[in-house]
Amino acid sequence: MGAQQAEESRQSHGDGEVNHSMAGSEQLYIGLDVGRTIRGALVRADGSILRQHRVVSEVSNARIFIDQLIDVIKALRADTEEVTAAGIGWAGLVNQREQRIEVNPNLVDVSSYDLHAELERATGFTVVIDNDANAAAYGEWRSGAARGFNDVFYVTLGTGIGSGLILGGQLQRGSRGFAGEFGHFKISDDGLECGCGGTGCLETMASGPNIVRRVREQLFSDPSFSLSKLARDMEGILTAERVERAAIEKDDLALSVLKETGRILGNAVASVINLLNVEVVVLGGGVMAAGDLILEPIREAAQRATLSPALECCRIVPAELGQDAGIIGAALLARDMRI
Ligand SMILES: [Zn+2]
Repeated sequence: MGAQQAEESRQSHGDGEVNHSMAGSEQLYIGLDVGRTIRGALVRADGSILRQHRVVSEVSNARIFIDQLIDVIKALRADTEEVTAAGIGWAGLVNQREQRIEVNPNLVDVSSYDLHAELERATGFTVVIDNDANAAAYGEWRSGAARGFNDVFYVTLGTGIGSGLILGGQLQRGSRGFAGEFGHFKISDDGLECGCGGTGCLETMASGPNIVRRVREQLFSDPSFSLSKLARDMEGILTAERVERAAIEKDDLALSVLKETGRILGNAVASVINLLNVEVVVLGGGVMAAGDLILEPIREAAQRATLSPALECCRIVPAELGQDAGIIGAALLARDMRI
């Protein structure tokens, strides 16, 4: 596990009691959410979590990073014989058909390794790798806010913006697995440069770091916000979480930026509803910690920009699984594997 700090926690999700004992011959699955942190869980077939394990990712060395993944899977497995498969939600573009990582913007480059084959060999499990937003969408669909729906658009709003799409009861990945890059919807011709190489992407306005950027810009350009609580934070580290907290405390600047963020997101969500006629839009990720302060502006903008028949049969709701959506979804992808 390298020199990284390891942390174990145990919890149960859903309606069941916390139960640390392994029940009989119950089938269990391992789910991993791989980004700057590797979060893993041992998950029951119903989506509830038996045990969690996490380490900080080693992003400077591919070999150590892959060994970390193997170690997390083995630590979760412990002496449990019932585990048969592991699913991995990966923060990058995944060629799902070939089980290959194609683009890996924030992690170490593992392209010289056959990650999938190596994980299967080292763990003895069947392994399925998918994009992290697809895994989270799958989790919310099978075990969270989108349970029971057939046509679902899931959005995760955090450091980046990702999405997953379920149509006709099937997770949609596109021809190679790259579908759902909602953060790279182009919303303006002369916008900021984006991490993808383009300009004017949704992510350059509405991701967590860009919410912070817009707060900073407003503080510099508009003296009327000088009394904002956030002005005092300019000396230190200003985060999206801090902006959200200030909004909850009724700070005018924070409320204004979140409202504008909601308007931008709502317009983009409306385009998806108009295009795909989904039954439910599920909004998750750290930015949604602001609750109704971001959700209501999204709903209002979406209502204005969506064709009314499509809007009447579509709900826009917050996610239910929080940070666990990715690990639960990855495990359930392993459970329902269709490669
Ligand atoms: Zn982009």
